[in-house]
Amino acid sequence: MTALLCFVGCALVSWLAGYPAHRVLARHGILDHPNERSCHDRPTVRGGGIAIVAALGAVTATVALSQNRYGMLVMLGGAAALAVVSFLDDQFSVAPALRFCWHAVLATATLAALGWPRLTLTFGPDWSWGVSGGLAAGVWFLWLVGYINAFNFMDGINGLAAGQAVVTGLGAGLLFGLHSGDWTGAGLLLAISLAGAAAGFLPHNFPQARMFMGDVGSAPLGFLLAFLVIYLAQKSGWVLLVPLALLHANYVLDTGVTLARRIARGERWHQPHREHFYQRLIRAGKSHGFVTGLELSLQTVVLGLMVWYLFVPGWVRLLLALAVLVLWAGFFAYGEIAFRRRPRSRLAGAPAQPDLEVAPAWSNPDLRDMRQPSAKASQPIHLSLPHMGGSEIRFVQRAFDENWLSTTGPNLKALETSFSARVGLPSVALSSGTAAIHLAVRLAGVKPGDEVVSPTLTFVASCNPVLYEGARPVFIDSERRSWNLDPELLSGFLKQRAANNRLPKAVIVVHLFGQSADLDPIVALCRQYGVTLIEDAAESLGAQYKNRPVGSLADVGVYSFNGNKIITSTGGGMLASPHHGWVDKARHWSTQACDPNPQRNYLHSEIGYNYRLSNVLAGIALGQLEVLEERIRQRRAIAFRYRDAFADLPGLELMPQAPYGLHTNWLSCFLVDQASFGLSAGGLVRSLNAANIEARPVWKPMHTQKLYQGYECVGGAVAEDLNRRGICLPSSSCLTDDEQRFVIDRVREAHLAAKAAPGK
Ligand SMILES: *Cc1c(COP(=O)(O)O)cnc(C)c1O
Repeated sequence: MTALLCFVGCALVSWLAGYPAHRVLARHGILDHPNERSCHDRPTVRGGGIAIVAALGAVTATVALSQNRYGMLVMLGGAAALAVVSFLDDQFSVAPALRFCWHAVLATATLAALGWPRLTLTFGPDWSWGVSGGLAAGVWFLWLVGYINAFNFMDGINGLAAGQAVVTGLGAGLLFGLHSGDWTGAGLLLAISLAGAAAGFLPHNFPQARMFMGDVGSAPLGFLLAFLVIYLAQKSGWVLLVPLALLHANYVLDTGVTLARRIARGERWHQPHREHFYQRLIRAGKSHGFVTGLELSLQTVVLGLMVWYLFVPGWVRLLLALAVLVLWAGFFAYGEIAFRRRPRSRLAGAPAQPDLEVAPAWSNPDLRDMRQPSAKASQPIHLSLPHMGGSEIRFVQRAFDENWLSTTGPNLKALETSFSARVGLPSVALSSGTAAIHLAVRLAGVKPGDEVVSPTLTFVASCNPVLYEGARPVFIDSERRSWNLDPELLSGFLKQRAANNRLPKAVIVVHLFGQSADLDPIVALCRQYGVTLIEDAAESLGAQYKNRPVGSLADVGVYSFNGNKIITSTGGGMLASPHHGWVDKARHWSTQACDPNPQRNYLHSEIGYNYRLSNVLAGIALGQLEVLEERIRQRRAIAFRYRDAFADLPGLELMPQAPYGLHTNWLSCFLVDQASFGLSAGGLVRSLNAANIEARPVWKPMHTQKLYQGYECVGGAVAEDLNRRGICLPSSSCLTDDEQRFVIDRVREAHLAAKAAPGK
């Protein structure tokens, strides 16, 4: 009865707590990103792993009060150390292999602390140490590592929710323990409460999540649960252990199968696995609800068997254990079969595809037989399409109704007001991002003959305005960590130029593909040398650097509403600046720079432009601003869906997600390693284009352009490499699941075909 109350109560509390929690998170831009289940890309969930681990430590301490102090101490130390690893991982993305080793070490320590010899009880009638004992320990060890690794299903925002669940469970357990003084009972209730709390947060995450997956942040949770299993088993004289192990056999088998497949395929086996059979079934076209239902009913059957198990003679138990294993094996086999027979893409014109991706290499030695004429999408799948939210047309209609069909009007005002609120700076709406950069260059006081620094890896519009002003660009290479301007190279360059008294007039820093450059050192350098810093955030509206919006952190920032950007007004741009008068100056220049005078005569004292945005287009931008958050979520989800779908392909890696900011993944960019992927980036682009998919290389560096021959470039090898190996995949926020699956299938197909016929 108490247990039932505990379960229901915890479920309720965590369910209710989910609402304010999600609200707070949303307010801080830490949104629930569907399909995104890894903390490594999200510095914003820095606390996720830590929260769980902290709770884990507390839980362990509680249970430690009851029994087996040494075991508990190891758990506690392990939890603390895991917190450190989680933290390092969130910050620096610790190598997966290191994490794996870490789990292994902890598993070993736990086993040792709980007493190796007792393990023998699980494996047979009084096995003594020696070969069989060692064997038993080995199996056990694998089970634990597998268990811990396999329990990675809650992470990112789900990880936070899991932390919340653990805390709720802990509270309930503590209350019970304090009230009754029965800490053994508290240990048991704890487990039940945890389950209840986890059940409570599921409704918050289930609807959006097509997959559960995750990483190290949730490993501690797995660790805790693994520990509870052992703990309960020990309490029950180990008799519970076998059934408990079987209850979780699916996770362990899952990890084992994944691991075996990877080793057999010569893939990076030590990478955290991103696909469970669960996801395979989802990818095979089964619904989220169906697969969950299937897993849960299997688990219930096993649970029933488990209870019965305790009351039957030894040989029946053995048979039952085997039966359960067979049951699970059947489940996995079903997963494989369903995956092979999955429905073909609904995209018209796509012929039935052989299931290239699941066939393990060993079952199909002759991959050449599997080459098929490539499918072709009947409608082109574009790189990045406009995606209206619905309210744009109302603002446009209002402009028509009120005859504000020029470059003044209420939409412009409203746009500037709401944009300024977003970036925290005064702003002006302009006819394009390029126009905004041009005005920024002028605001920086660039004169003919001056030099202006620009990254060489960028779109040409970043630096053309330098030429408009008769100034000279100097290009600087990118850093690998963010693909953006390398602060070290900039530092060396400015230092050397300062020594020769030839400092550039301005630096343009570009935030490519939705990711912020490493701004702190760049801002500091420009301050130090008194050089104006311009942020080209045309591709990165909505991106953040250390929780602040990019484009608002330097002397002047520019944004673009071009048709291919994350939000669009068909064409348009914004300029924002913290400096008094700069935005007004830009507005003045953008409307032909007519000097104010009472006669309204046409007085001109400096050059101006026709760069103002139309009030009609401002209406579109205004409507689009309303859906910016959603677009960011969608673009990120698309990038991570690609990443997860390609996790097992060698030599295909998502563009780095620098730990200091929020990457909108405006475009999903990948790096192709020809040696392991089998095909060059160029080859992959060609093969996708042949399938009517618009894929493109990463920007071609400016120093390699005919237009910019003869201009200085500092470094350049990184940018050239990124251009040679980088590829942008269709990333429209309106990309459908079917379309994305189609793209994914073509990429996997190209990989296998290339592997089967190298050199082609
Ligand atoms: C798109 C883009 C621009 C230009 O913006 P428009 O609004 O198209 O003029 C400038 N810089 C970069 C890096 C861009 O991607």
